[in-house]
Amino acid sequence: MTLDELLSRARACRRCEDRLPLGPRPVLRASPTARLLIVGQAPGTKVHETGLPFNDASGDRLRDWLGLDRDLFYDDARVAIVPMGLCYPGRDRNGGDKPPIRECASLWHPPLRPLLPELQLTLLVGSYAQAYYLGKQRKASLTETVRDWRRYGPNFMPLPHPSWRNTAWIRRNAWFEQELLPELKARVASLL
Ligand code: SF4
Repeated sequence: MTLDELLSRARACRRCEDRLPLGPRPVLRASPTARLLIVGQAPGTKVHETGLPFNDASGDRLRDWLGLDRDLFYDDARVAIVPMGLCYPGRDRNGGDKPPIRECASLWHPPLRPLLPELQLTLLVGSYAQAYYLGKQRKASLTETVRDWRRYGPNFMPLPHPSWRNTAWIRRNAWFEQELLPELKARVASLL
């Protein structure tokens, strides 16, 4: 299967239609020349409406972390963006977004990766991506996993979700901005 065929199949997926409050709208981007893959959680409502991943305040913060403007971030010849759940999963009782649909990642990520032969770095944004890709190598908490980021290189780098909900986490963990982000920016600049 070619990457174009896989993307077409993924974008046409309706597998868990009955569990998606706004209906299926798989949001992903990739091309065979991409060197960086960003694996997030699942679209929020704004991403669902626009079909553009990280097209929200979280995306602005993530672009700042990476040192990328919107043009480069959305250049799918260089940056692939494929979340753990491709469709908006709805809200939980506390008003937050529900977890990504569980079976979605195992449906699309395994066939996708071999079709991205230039991939040098995969960013694991949030605990769902870390659980899926790092498995038993993941630490007991997201903080410990991200703090141990050097261990997962050069292919993977774990990150917290760039949501405003993690602003206090970022303040509490000064090493993130002082040590991890400069390394991340340098790595992304050399890749792209
Ligand atoms: S969440 Fe994933 S499995 Fe469900 S309809 Fe969307 S693309 Fe298909």
